Amino acid sequence: MMDVRDLALQAACPVIAVPRFGPLPDMANGQRILLAANGVFVQVKLDWLDCIQRLSPALPIPLPYGGIEERLAFTFGVLPIPLIEDFIAAGRRGLPNEVAGALIYSRRSRNLRLVLCEAIAVSPHQIDYRVPAMDADETLAVDLHTHGYGRPFWSSTDDGDDQGIKVAGVFGCLHQPKPQALFRLVVNGRFRPLPHPWQVNTVYDAAPDLEPSLLRRILNLYQERRFGPWNT
Ligand SMILES: [Zn+2]
Repeated sequence: MMDVRDLALQAACPVIAVPRFGPLPDMANGQRILLAANGVFVQVKLDWLDCIQRLSPALPIPLPYGGIEERLAFTFGVLPIPLIEDFIAAGRRGLPNEVAGALIYSRRSRNLRLVLCEAIAVSPHQIDYRVPAMDADETLAVDLHTHGYGRPFWSSTDDGDDQGIKVAGVFGCLHQPKPQALFRLVVNGRFRPLPHPWQVNTVYDAAPDLEPSLLRRILNLYQERRFGPWNT
């Protein structure tokens, strides 16, 4: 008989062999590992999210399982532009300091709402803030912060803060008519860049003193880092 601790751990993160002929069984909210003919994947389901992401390529033996593709679906559809524009406006009001906010998803209303986070300590270069209060049916879906006048990028502090499962967004250049942003899906410490309407303008980003081939190499490195583990 299995140790009850192992039963609990495996119930929290089961391994499913992907069916070759039938559909993938539904799952409740949580996380499971999918063993497929074309690789090992993780599937995460929350009230607002259903995603399958590849963790590794096909194992080096033929497996009698089906194949599966990565997918990413938000219950709320696409990023809600009006709420994010409200956050941008709050970020501008907060200049020169950073501002933090969140889009909270309600299972009951199936909607997102914007909250601005109360700052504990704030400056133009960092912000420590309280996690907003939420009702029992609510979860934090999109974590937002600004870099004020600075460019958007993922700092080591951002990387350390981005745990669990959420979408993270950072806005910068808020003094410009069109601010710039980065968005990423965070799944247990792994990051996947997400497309959005405030793409970083690489012409603005480029430092004019850099010799072009060096700049190209840096951009290539950056691209590889951004798209490395997720786009296999
Ligand atoms: Zn940051």
